[in-house]
Amino acid sequence: MESTITRPGVRRHKPASRRRRSALRLVALAVWLVAGQSAAQTAAQTAATAQAVAPPIRVGVLAYRGGDHANAAWEPTVRYLAERFPERGAEMVPLDLLGMDTAVQAGSVDFVLTNTGNYVELEARHGVTRIATLHSARAGASGAAIGSAVIVRADRSDIRELGDLRGRTVMAIDPDAFGGFQIAWGAMLEAGVDPYRDLRELRFSGFPVDRVAFAVGEGEVDAGILRACVLEELAAEGRVDAGRFRVLGGGASPGFGCALSTGLYPDWPLARLASTPEELAKAVVVALFQMPGDHPAAKAGGYDGWTVPLDYQPVHALFRSLRIGPYRSLREVSLVELAREHWEWLAAGALALLWWAVHSLRVEHLIKVRTAELRAANRDLRHEMAERRRAEETARERQKEMDHVARLSILGEMASNLAHELNQPLGAIANYARGCTRRLETGTAEPAQLAEITRAIAEQAERAGHIIARIRGFVRKRAARPEPMDLNEAVRAAILLCEPRARGDGVAIRPDLADGLPPVVADGVQIEQVVLNLIKNALDALEGAASGAPPITVRTGLDGEGRVEVAVADRGPGLTGDARSRLFDPFFTTKPDGMGLGLSICRTIVEAHGGHLWATDNQGEGTVMRFVLPAATGGQRIAGKEPRHAV
Ligand code: ADP
Repeated sequence: MESTITRPGVRRHKPASRRRRSALRLVALAVWLVAGQSAAQTAAQTAATAQAVAPPIRVGVLAYRGGDHANAAWEPTVRYLAERFPERGAEMVPLDLLGMDTAVQAGSVDFVLTNTGNYVELEARHGVTRIATLHSARAGASGAAIGSAVIVRADRSDIRELGDLRGRTVMAIDPDAFGGFQIAWGAMLEAGVDPYRDLRELRFSGFPVDRVAFAVGEGEVDAGILRACVLEELAAEGRVDAGRFRVLGGGASPGFGCALSTGLYPDWPLARLASTPEELAKAVVVALFQMPGDHPAAKAGGYDGWTVPLDYQPVHALFRSLRIGPYRSLREVSLVELAREHWEWLAAGALALLWWAVHSLRVEHLIKVRTAELRAANRDLRHEMAERRRAEETARERQKEMDHVARLSILGEMASNLAHELNQPLGAIANYARGCTRRLETGTAEPAQLAEITRAIAEQAERAGHIIARIRGFVRKRAARPEPMDLNEAVRAAILLCEPRARGDGVAIRPDLADGLPPVVADGVQIEQVVLNLIKNALDALEGAASGAPPITVRTGLDGEGRVEVAVADRGPGLTGDARSRLFDPFFTTKPDGMGLGLSICRTIVEAHGGHLWATDNQGEGTVMRFVLPAATGGQRIAGKEPRHAV
């Protein structure tokens, strides 16, 4: 690697004229001692002014291998200039790459002597201008003298050209070495091999450069990159055996004395800064052109004099293609370039993006449409639900009305019997009251007897009151109130209401009620209404039968599925063919004064309680009307013996 010098050292050369000036200053001092202070001051000021007017020529030199190496190589050249400009002198300012840039920018040097690559960069960045180029005796016809030699071991027949380096290990001097890497880099790219991408490994040896030759010789690496002529120099110095190596490409430039793998580029130039006076530049060029080829300064610098400045455009072209030096910024790949290189991927990406965008828009649109549809459906549903609720409410009201009417109708049919039923307690009350009056009038009224009579009167009045209360309870218009209840209770209440008529008809109603039935959740009045209706129909069926007709049985029990069942059986004429199929149709009746609503209402009531109502033939003759209701879940049995099954 190049050594780094952070603070440029300055070496001054005092030519004879300068030494003479110092002598003058000594003389002035003597005169001052002798002739007085004012005269001496004048002489000293004169000397100082001379120095201020002509400062030394400052030459910035690239010390790429450290200050000592730069001093050894270039100090003689600067000394040569100092001798050619005795009135000013010249001083060498060794600089590293960064120092060179800073010095040129600050204008702290007049000239720069630097390598080809650095010159191109300074030219682009700060406008320095080459005024002479180092001349090499080995240069080609164009005067250009720097190229690269890519060397392999002579026995490596598998590597013939630069293109064969793909997948190999290659060693170069330094990433910034012009001949020792960059020129070969450009040539390799032209051969289709990118050293940073296509090699197995790219190593940099740093200085001394003979490390590369040794690494290739030892087989440590497959190939090495050297500045052209270095191999020949090493061989001349006896440090390597040139016969062991082969230079790839075998290219040669007319007049160029060394083996080459690449084209040739101009050697180091001397360049002036934009601020350097034209006259001074001209004078320096003249001085350099007059340097003989065998001058010790040329020998020390490894060149053979100076020549007219060469064309550095090929160096610009190379750097541009490698995107280094002043063209480093081109490495930041532009979008256009990226697009050109990866257009297939970009096109695929763009298509995917387009598809995604279209898809998203479509999905969004569909969601909007569906949401609107759902909203409308929701609105309709709410409307429909409200309508249904209203309809249900109306139906419930109607049902209530119908139930009420049906109950009134049943009761109306039984009114005469009920009146007869009421007559009994009323008649008894009247009799008791008359007996009481008689006893009071005849004065035979024993208080104890009177008390018994009035108690009997009260009992009969209570009995009449119970009958009226039962009727009132039955016909009252009310909403259904389902609650756990004993079905037998409803059956008993219905029988009580029917009994007056049954007695009148000369028909017995025989209850056969199972004990220990589970409760059902039902509205007591509605169930009573159903049973009452079934008994009334049974009585109707027996109407006109000869007295001593078989009794109507009302049985309760459990069916096979644990439901509570009620069966009303009569020995009437049974169902006609028409009645069998239309029994539960509203307004179907076979009776002259019938409404045909009884059974239809009964079925609605039973089904509203989760039950079922149907008709079967009674064995022999007559009809059995049955209905079942589900037992209340978790309900206990109603106290008593085990319930009977299948009534
Ligand atoms: P209605 O009693 O006003 O006629 P229902 O709906 O109660 O109305 O009865 C409808 C019809 O069913 C009756 O007209 C009758 O023909 C028939 N029916 C009902 N119960 C019996 C029964 N136990 N025996 C024979 N027929 C019956």
